[in-house]
Amino acid sequence: MRDGGVPSRRDTPATEVARDVSRRLRRWFARHGRDLPWRRTRDPYRILVSELMLQQTQVSRVLDFYERFLARFPSLHDLAAARPAAVREQWEGLGYYARARNLHALSRQVTRDGNGALPDDPQALRNLPGIGPYTAGAVASFAFERPAALVDTNVARVIARIFAPRLRPKRARDLSRIWRIAESILPRRGRTAWTHNQALMELGALVCTARVRRCEVCPVASACATRQRELRTR
Ligand code: SF4
Repeated sequence: MRDGGVPSRRDTPATEVARDVSRRLRRWFARHGRDLPWRRTRDPYRILVSELMLQQTQVSRVLDFYERFLARFPSLHDLAAARPAAVREQWEGLGYYARARNLHALSRQVTRDGNGALPDDPQALRNLPGIGPYTAGAVASFAFERPAALVDTNVARVIARIFAPRLRPKRARDLSRIWRIAESILPRRGRTAWTHNQALMELGALVCTARVRRCEVCPVASACATRQRELRTR
Protein backbone atom coordinates (compact mmCIF):
# COMPACT_ATOMS: atom_id res chain seq x y z
CA MET A 1 0.00 0.00 0.00
CA ARG A 2 1.30 3.40 -0.89
CA ASP A 3 -0.92 5.40 1.41
CA GLY A 4 -1.21 5.22 5.17
CA GLY A 5 0.17 6.89 8.28
CA VAL A 6 0.53 10.52 9.29
CA PRO A 7 3.51 12.47 10.57
CA SER A 8 4.38 12.65 14.25
CA ARG A 9 7.30 14.31 16.07
CA ARG A 10 10.35 12.13 16.92
CA ASP A 11 13.52 10.57 15.55
CA THR A 12 15.06 13.21 13.32
CA PRO A 13 18.63 12.73 12.08
CA ALA A 14 21.19 15.53 12.47
CA THR A 15 20.88 18.17 9.78
CA GLU A 16 24.33 17.54 8.31
CA VAL A 17 23.65 13.79 8.10
CA ALA A 18 20.30 14.40 6.40
CA ARG A 19 21.87 16.82 3.94
CA ASP A 20 24.69 14.43 3.12
CA VAL A 21 22.29 11.53 2.50
CA SER A 22 20.04 13.67 0.33
CA ARG A 23 23.00 14.96 -1.71
CA ARG A 24 24.28 11.43 -2.31
CA LEU A 25 20.83 10.22 -3.28
CA ARG A 26 20.29 13.06 -5.76
CA ARG A 27 23.69 12.58 -7.34
CA TRP A 28 23.04 8.86 -7.70
CA PHE A 29 19.58 9.48 -9.16
CA ALA A 30 21.01 11.81 -11.80
CA ARG A 31 23.09 8.90 -13.07
CA HIS A 32 20.89 5.89 -12.43
CA GLY A 33 17.27 7.09 -12.27
CA ARG A 34 15.04 5.51 -14.90
CA ASP A 35 13.62 7.67 -17.64
CA LEU A 36 9.89 7.21 -16.97
CA PRO A 37 7.14 9.18 -18.76
CA TRP A 38 5.72 10.63 -15.54
CA ARG A 39 9.15 11.97 -14.67
CA ARG A 40 9.24 13.98 -17.90
CA THR A 41 6.11 15.97 -17.08
CA ARG A 42 4.82 18.34 -14.41
CA ASP A 43 1.24 18.06 -15.64
CA PRO A 44 -0.75 17.42 -12.42
CA TYR A 45 -3.31 15.23 -14.18
CA ARG A 46 -0.66 13.00 -15.75
CA ILE A 47 1.19 12.74 -12.44
CA LEU A 48 -2.04 11.87 -10.66
CA VAL A 49 -2.90 9.13 -13.17
CA SER A 50 0.58 7.64 -12.84
CA GLU A 51 0.44 7.70 -9.04
CA LEU A 52 -2.94 5.98 -8.89
CA MET A 53 -1.86 3.37 -11.42
CA LEU A 54 1.37 2.72 -9.53
CA GLN A 55 -0.50 1.93 -6.32
CA GLN A 56 -0.05 -1.85 -5.96
CA THR A 57 1.18 -2.26 -9.56
CA GLN A 58 4.68 -2.65 -11.01
CA VAL A 59 6.18 0.11 -13.15
CA SER A 60 6.67 -2.21 -16.14
CA ARG A 61 2.98 -3.09 -16.13
CA VAL A 62 1.80 0.50 -15.68
CA LEU A 63 3.79 1.81 -18.67
CA ASP A 64 1.42 0.40 -21.33
CA PHE A 65 -1.76 1.28 -19.51
CA TYR A 66 -0.57 4.81 -18.74
CA GLU A 67 -0.06 5.86 -22.36
CA ARG A 68 -3.28 4.20 -23.51
CA PHE A 69 -5.34 5.76 -20.75
CA LEU A 70 -3.97 9.23 -21.47
CA ALA A 71 -4.54 8.83 -25.19
CA ARG A 72 -8.21 8.05 -24.46
CA PHE A 73 -8.62 10.67 -21.68
CA PRO A 74 -6.00 13.39 -22.32
CA SER A 75 -7.25 15.76 -19.60
CA LEU A 76 -9.14 15.82 -16.33
CA HIS A 77 -12.10 17.34 -18.23
CA ASP A 78 -12.13 14.48 -20.74
CA LEU A 79 -12.10 11.99 -17.90
CA ALA A 80 -14.88 13.80 -16.02
CA ALA A 81 -17.06 13.74 -19.14
CA ALA A 82 -16.57 10.00 -19.68
CA ARG A 83 -19.08 7.31 -18.80
CA PRO A 84 -18.05 5.06 -15.86
CA ALA A 85 -18.10 2.03 -18.18
CA ALA A 86 -15.61 3.72 -20.55
CA VAL A 87 -13.24 4.46 -17.68
CA ARG A 88 -13.47 0.93 -16.41
CA GLU A 89 -12.85 -0.41 -19.90
CA GLN A 90 -9.64 1.61 -20.17
CA TRP A 91 -8.53 0.34 -16.77
CA GLU A 92 -9.38 -3.29 -17.63
CA GLY A 93 -6.43 -5.58 -16.90
CA LEU A 94 -4.76 -3.25 -14.40
CA GLY A 95 -6.92 -4.49 -11.51
CA TYR A 96 -7.97 -2.78 -8.28
CA TYR A 97 -10.82 -0.94 -10.00
CA ALA A 98 -11.51 1.16 -6.93
CA ARG A 99 -8.59 3.27 -8.15
CA ALA A 100 -10.35 3.94 -11.46
CA ARG A 101 -13.61 4.74 -9.69
CA ASN A 102 -11.82 7.13 -7.35
CA LEU A 103 -9.95 8.81 -10.20
CA HIS A 104 -13.19 9.28 -12.10
CA ALA A 105 -15.00 10.64 -9.03
CA LEU A 106 -12.06 12.95 -8.36
CA SER A 107 -12.12 14.31 -11.92
CA ARG A 108 -15.82 15.09 -11.60
CA GLN A 109 -15.39 16.73 -8.20
CA VAL A 110 -12.47 18.90 -9.34
CA THR A 111 -14.14 19.99 -12.59
CA ARG A 112 -17.35 20.77 -10.68
CA ASP A 113 -15.86 22.52 -7.61
CA GLY A 114 -12.38 23.62 -8.57
CA ASN A 115 -12.45 24.85 -12.18
CA GLY A 116 -10.69 21.68 -13.26
CA ALA A 117 -7.44 22.58 -11.53
CA LEU A 118 -5.94 20.17 -9.05
CA PRO A 119 -4.83 21.85 -5.81
CA ASP A 120 -1.10 22.01 -5.09
CA ASP A 121 -1.48 21.77 -1.32
CA PRO A 122 -1.16 18.27 0.21
CA GLN A 123 -3.95 18.94 2.72
CA ALA A 124 -6.35 20.07 -0.02
CA LEU A 125 -5.38 17.08 -2.16
CA ARG A 126 -6.22 14.74 0.69
CA ASN A 127 -9.83 15.88 0.60
CA LEU A 128 -10.21 14.32 -2.85
CA PRO A 129 -11.43 10.74 -3.48
CA GLY A 130 -8.71 8.08 -3.31
CA ILE A 131 -5.97 10.47 -2.17
CA GLY A 132 -4.14 9.47 1.00
CA PRO A 133 -1.04 11.07 2.56
CA TYR A 134 1.41 9.43 0.15
CA THR A 135 -0.44 10.38 -3.05
CA ALA A 136 -1.07 13.90 -1.77
CA GLY A 137 2.67 14.33 -1.15
CA ALA A 138 3.54 12.78 -4.51
CA VAL A 139 1.24 15.06 -6.52
CA ALA A 140 2.34 18.15 -4.57
CA SER A 141 6.00 17.30 -5.06
CA PHE A 142 6.11 15.74 -8.53
CA ALA A 143 3.58 18.01 -10.25
CA PHE A 144 3.92 21.31 -8.37
CA GLU A 145 7.46 20.97 -7.02
CA ARG A 146 6.23 21.73 -3.53
CA PRO A 147 8.60 20.59 -0.77
CA ALA A 148 6.23 17.86 0.41
CA ALA A 149 7.30 14.60 2.06
CA LEU A 150 5.95 11.30 0.78
CA VAL A 151 6.19 7.85 2.28
CA ASP A 152 5.03 4.70 0.52
CA THR A 153 6.10 1.14 1.32
CA ASN A 154 9.43 1.48 -0.49
CA VAL A 155 10.32 4.85 0.98
CA ALA A 156 9.34 3.70 4.48
CA ARG A 157 11.64 0.69 4.19
CA VAL A 158 14.56 2.75 2.87
CA ILE A 159 14.21 5.46 5.52
CA ALA A 160 13.96 2.91 8.32
CA ARG A 161 17.03 1.06 7.06
CA ILE A 162 19.13 4.20 6.70
CA PHE A 163 18.12 6.09 9.82
CA ALA A 164 16.20 3.89 12.25
CA PRO A 165 16.48 0.12 11.67
CA ARG A 166 14.50 -0.61 14.83
CA LEU A 167 11.37 0.94 13.32
CA ARG A 168 8.93 -1.41 11.63
CA PRO A 169 7.05 0.32 8.82
CA LYS A 170 4.09 -2.03 9.22
CA ARG A 171 3.46 -0.75 12.75
CA ALA A 172 1.29 2.38 12.64
CA ARG A 173 3.25 4.09 15.42
CA ASP A 174 6.57 3.43 13.72
CA LEU A 175 5.21 4.57 10.37
CA SER A 176 4.31 7.91 11.93
CA ARG A 177 7.91 8.23 13.10
CA ILE A 178 9.16 7.38 9.62
CA TRP A 179 6.97 10.15 8.21
CA ARG A 180 8.58 12.49 10.70
CA ILE A 181 12.04 11.47 9.49
CA ALA A 182 10.95 11.90 5.85
CA GLU A 183 9.88 15.46 6.63
CA SER A 184 13.06 16.24 8.52
CA ILE A 185 15.37 15.15 5.68
CA LEU A 186 13.39 16.86 2.92
CA PRO A 187 15.27 19.67 1.13
CA ARG A 188 13.50 23.02 1.45
CA ARG A 189 13.68 23.97 -2.20
CA GLY A 190 10.80 22.35 -4.07
CA ARG A 191 12.83 21.46 -7.12
CA THR A 192 15.53 19.82 -5.02
CA ALA A 193 12.82 18.04 -3.02
CA TRP A 194 11.43 16.69 -6.33
CA THR A 195 14.75 14.98 -7.07
CA HIS A 196 15.22 13.89 -3.47
CA ASN A 197 11.79 12.20 -3.41
CA GLN A 198 12.30 10.55 -6.79
CA ALA A 199 15.72 9.33 -5.66
CA LEU A 200 14.39 7.82 -2.43
CA MET A 201 11.74 5.94 -4.37
CA GLU A 202 14.21 4.82 -7.00
CA LEU A 203 16.64 3.53 -4.39
CA GLY A 204 13.81 1.49 -2.88
CA ALA A 205 12.93 0.09 -6.31
CA LEU A 206 16.43 -0.68 -7.61
CA VAL A 207 18.96 -1.00 -4.78
CA CYS A 208 17.31 -1.36 -1.37
CA THR A 209 14.35 -3.55 -2.24
CA ALA A 210 12.14 -5.61 0.03
CA ARG A 211 13.90 -8.79 -1.12
CA VAL A 212 17.49 -7.65 -1.78
CA ARG A 213 19.82 -5.07 -0.29
CA ARG A 214 22.59 -4.17 -2.74
CA CYS A 215 24.66 -2.32 -0.15
CA GLU A 216 27.93 -2.67 -2.14
CA VAL A 217 26.59 -0.32 -4.81
CA CYS A 218 24.39 1.84 -2.59
CA PRO A 219 25.18 5.57 -2.62
CA VAL A 220 24.30 6.02 1.06
CA ALA A 221 26.00 2.91 2.46
CA SER A 222 28.53 4.90 4.50
CA ALA A 223 25.69 6.74 6.27
CA CYS A 224 23.28 3.83 6.52
CA ALA A 225 22.65 2.52 10.06
CA THR A 226 21.64 -0.94 8.82
CA ARG A 227 24.76 -1.33 6.68
CA GLN A 228 27.09 0.03 9.32
CA ARG A 229 25.64 -2.25 12.00
CA GLU A 230 26.07 -5.20 9.67
CA LEU A 231 29.71 -4.35 8.99
CA ARG A 232 30.42 -4.00 12.72
CA THR A 233 29.03 -7.45 13.51
CA ARG A 234 30.95 -9.28 10.79
S1 SF4 B 1 23.28 0.57 2.47
FE1 SF4 B 1 22.09 -1.28 2.13
S2 SF4 B 1 20.49 -1.26 3.72
FE2 SF4 B 1 21.35 0.81 3.58
S3 SF4 B 1 20.01 1.90 2.18
FE3 SF4 B 1 21.70 1.09 0.97
S4 SF4 B 1 21.00 -0.92 0.22
FE4 SF4 B 1 19.63 -0.29 1.88
